[in-house]
Amino acid sequence: MTLSSPTHRPRKALGQHFLHDPGVIARILAAIAPQPDDRMVEIGPGLGALTRPLLAHVRHLHLVEIDRDLAARWRAEAAAGLPISVHEADALAFDFAALGPGLRVVGNLPYNISTPLLFHLAAAAGHLRDLHLMLQKEVVERMAATPGTPAYGRLSVMLQARFRVVKLFNVPPGCFNPPPKVDSAVVRLIPLAEAERPCRNPERFATLVALAFGQRRKTLRNTLKGMVDAATFAALGIDPGRRGETLSVAEFAALADYPVSATFQSPD
Ligand code: SAM
Repeated sequence: MTLSSPTHRPRKALGQHFLHDPGVIARILAAIAPQPDDRMVEIGPGLGALTRPLLAHVRHLHLVEIDRDLAARWRAEAAAGLPISVHEADALAFDFAALGPGLRVVGNLPYNISTPLLFHLAAAAGHLRDLHLMLQKEVVERMAATPGTPAYGRLSVMLQARFRVVKLFNVPPGCFNPPPKVDSAVVRLIPLAEAERPCRNPERFATLVALAFGQRRKTLRNTLKGMVDAATFAALGIDPGRRGETLSVAEFAALADYPVSATFQSPD
């Protein structure tokens, strides 16, 4: 905001931790590498730590901000000529696809809504070019985790089925005002092209993944009972005595896509 703006008291309920470290801001900008004609949207511009540096590079920027006071300030800036479109909205309900194809998404996200927001953005993946997001470090580690590691779970599999996930760097609490209680990290997500996507049956895939991780310690034979029969496990060479946490994204996709055996009888 401009120096004459009244002070804004950070709202904890909206996850308002404002970035102030110039080195981190420069690293995020370098990672995004914004170009003048990029179609770009920032989620949660707050006081503009990323917004203003982005506007030094792009011709226009969409902002999605839920805080009524902050949105009003940005609308005043738009009226004064800043090349922004202000959407006072909840990012969880915002129609990102409506902004057009090839959208670049950036944001230092409110951590309390990060998982549902990631699922919401994944649903619009076909309209996105890339995403650069600041999140709680532990969430970024779950997003990028590989099979058999403690952080690997539903979030890892569901996101990696739609995106290439690249953890970029960590950001300590002292870089924000007020400092959050947790470490943060910046992550890049690049949507997979249609041909690169591992699964053809996304609804069944989502169901199997939720079941397999719903009871992490149980074997696939138990968690996927009624969904995958012994013949399918055998045909795919997947041991039903394994746990979901050991399965790769490709193996989940194979289970989801394999035609259900004609001989299979549901136990119900
Ligand atoms: N981008 C600024 C920065 O880096 O300093 C602010 C980041 S702050 C962590 C999160 C921002 O997201 C705040 O501006 C907050 O008001 C906004 N926000 C919180 N919940 C939101 C939601 N559901 N939809 C859109 N914006 C939201």
